[in-house]
Amino acid sequence: MEQLSTLGYSILLISIIISILSIRYTLRLRKYLEEFIYVSKKISNKEFHSRISSTAKGDLGELSRNFNEMIEIMDKTISDLDYSNLQKTSILKSISHGILAIDIDGNIMLINEEAKRMLKCDNGILVEGKNIKNVIKEEKLLEEINTFKGWKQNKTDELKINDDLVYKVSIDPIYLESIKHIIIGSIINIQDITEKVKLEHMRSDFVANVSHELKTPLTSISGFVETLRLNENIDVQTRNRFLSIIETESDRLKRLIDDILLLSFIENNEKIVYEGVSLYNVFLEVYEMTNYIAKSKNINLTYEFDDKSIVVFANRDYIKQVFLNLIDNAIKYTPENQGKTVKVSVDTKQDKIIIKVKDEGIGIPKEDINRIFERFYRVDKARSKEVGGTGLGLAIIKHIVKSLGGTIEVKSELRHGSEFIVNIPEKISFK
Ligand code: ADP
Repeated sequence: MEQLSTLGYSILLISIIISILSIRYTLRLRKYLEEFIYVSKKISNKEFHSRISSTAKGDLGELSRNFNEMIEIMDKTISDLDYSNLQKTSILKSISHGILAIDIDGNIMLINEEAKRMLKCDNGILVEGKNIKNVIKEEKLLEEINTFKGWKQNKTDELKINDDLVYKVSIDPIYLESIKHIIIGSIINIQDITEKVKLEHMRSDFVANVSHELKTPLTSISGFVETLRLNENIDVQTRNRFLSIIETESDRLKRLIDDILLLSFIENNEKIVYEGVSLYNVFLEVYEMTNYIAKSKNINLTYEFDDKSIVVFANRDYIKQVFLNLIDNAIKYTPENQGKTVKVSVDTKQDKIIIKVKDEGIGIPKEDINRIFERFYRVDKARSKEVGGTGLGLAIIKHIVKSLGGTIEVKSELRHGSEFIVNIPEKISFK
């Protein structure tokens, strides 16, 4: 009996101990599961820094360690992906061309902001994943991309979008990394070449104009030389008249070549030499050169300097050329023997040199004002030639002023006169 009751106690004790242990284990397991659920929720909320802190031993401990390691790997992979995405987006944003990558069906895989602008995609909507047909509003570009998408060859075209816009579009195939002959899409590079095309046109127009301008005096010179050579008995008076024409045409040729060379020098001269320049002294040199012509036409050439002792840091030759071309034009386009005045004024205020040349001459029609700075543009071609113009004087000034970082403006009234105002920033002055 006694033995039985001892056994019964022992069983009861063991049962109690087992119950206590299983309750403790269940509690620990529950706590562990609660933490597991809590951390996994955080992970699904992209809070990848969360970890299971449980220090359980055995299977639970291993599960925690594995879970934490898994989160760590995920965290690192996602950080790496985020960083490489950031790099990719930054690179795409920094490219000044439009870049677009599409699959062979025309679905957009990648696009930068510049491409969205050029392709006229709606602002603020996500276009990645959508088909080009639904997002590209620029019809000429859509047609080009649609035609050549998925092509095995590279394709480059210049597209005139409108009168003021020319794009160069290059379409290249994208090959699958591992299987080289399989094309998975196309990459499209769109470049705005409007300025380049304009410049090319300007250059070819310039070459054509130069050839024409040079040809006219040359034809005349060779014609008169030929006549003189073939007619030995020509009378002295006619001979002198022909020689005088040859001289005039040669002078014109020389002026033209000088101006063309000067223009090309200014255009190609990247390094402008700055030096201390006495504005008044430079002006006086020009004044002496031009005043006798003014006098011969009974035109008063007057001037006004706010400070004759001023020395500015500028390019001497360029400043001289600006004075010369503006004063020369003012005299050329002012009728003679009517007591008219050409007035030059120079102000040096707030680190700016302001040169004004005002005449009481023929004036410039409104519709021509914006064009007079173009090379070889003359309001009245015959008149310009008669007064010895080359059609390049204002183009030269415009380039000089631009290279010095300044501006030029014109105020003019037909038959009443014109005023040219040049504004040049003074680099450093030695006042
Ligand atoms: P040009 O050698 O023919 O004078 P420019 O380039 O100096 O060439 O000037 C271009 C044109 O602008 C001139 O042909 C003339 O029609 C006009 N122009 C320039 N300056 C004046 C002015 N002061 N008054 C009237 N017209 C002017």
